[in-house]
Amino acid sequence: MKSTSVFVLVVVALVALAPAAWAQGKLNVITTTEDLAAIAREVGGDRVTVESLARGYQDPHFVEAKPSFILKLQRADLLIVVGRELEVGWLPPLIQQSRNAKVQAGADGYLDASAHARILEIPQGQITRAMGDVHPSGNPHYWLDPENGKIVARDIAAKLAQFRPGDKAYFDQRGADFSNRLTDAMKRWTAAMAPYKGTKVVTYHRSYPNFADRFGLDVVGYVEPRPGIPPSPGHTLDLVAEMKRQQIKVILMEPYFDTKTPNSIASQTGAKVVVLPPSVGGEKTITDYIKLFDYDINLIVTAFTAAGAKPGGER
Ligand SMILES: [Zn+2]
Repeated sequence: MKSTSVFVLVVVALVALAPAAWAQGKLNVITTTEDLAAIAREVGGDRVTVESLARGYQDPHFVEAKPSFILKLQRADLLIVVGRELEVGWLPPLIQQSRNAKVQAGADGYLDASAHARILEIPQGQITRAMGDVHPSGNPHYWLDPENGKIVARDIAAKLAQFRPGDKAYFDQRGADFSNRLTDAMKRWTAAMAPYKGTKVVTYHRSYPNFADRFGLDVVGYVEPRPGIPPSPGHTLDLVAEMKRQQIKVILMEPYFDTKTPNSIASQTGAKVVVLPPSVGGEKTITDYIKLFDYDINLIVTAFTAAGAKPGGER
């Protein structure tokens, strides 16, 4: 009871302080993930304050909701979400409890960043529970394609300009500059990955289809038997056999899963486990969107070289 009343007092105090932030004229942007926060900062510059709810080392499907999240949502002018049901397990009640009309789904201050992105794995036909935690509107890990990063930046620029028409040129210019820097960086990333085009890998969860598609990797299996379903002995046996048959040398996994099964698979197949951060903030040094790809591509190239991975396709 006591801690509840302290919490209520804190809430009241923070809400009372909120107008001070508005007075500065900066738009208060809240994002669900650090990737979206990084892109929003690129576009918004000094006209916005940006904060992410989830940390980049957390599983974005299952983020532990904190009371502070509700406070942040209460004060937000704009909420940017990944969408495609990524946050469906934790975000909707928080938005509702914030009672901030501006950021409710469908309101002007709610931006679904997936709207114009290239989305893979959109299921055909009927979806059943037996298929696991399948996302009915496609794979939500689309930010791992820099071309989608450009599209998201464009949508954010348009949304910010809607709130601040006087700053439209500023947001457009920053968005274009970010896009140009991504185009330049793509040249070095593509060159670094070119020798490994078509290399077959296994990943833990279906986090990397956009990344694999963009950079020429061939994902042939998953440690999870189905998306969101933990490893099972039967599936692991099948996967080990398949990896031996196809001589898979690298298992890519997200930092927030247990390494036990991947390590066991690696020891049976001679493959190497590579923990590949899927998000900004997944490692201390990954402080922005371009650094995310710099880090991941360097990690993959190093692992492929060490593991003697052979490309499955032509250069
Ligand atoms: Zn997922």
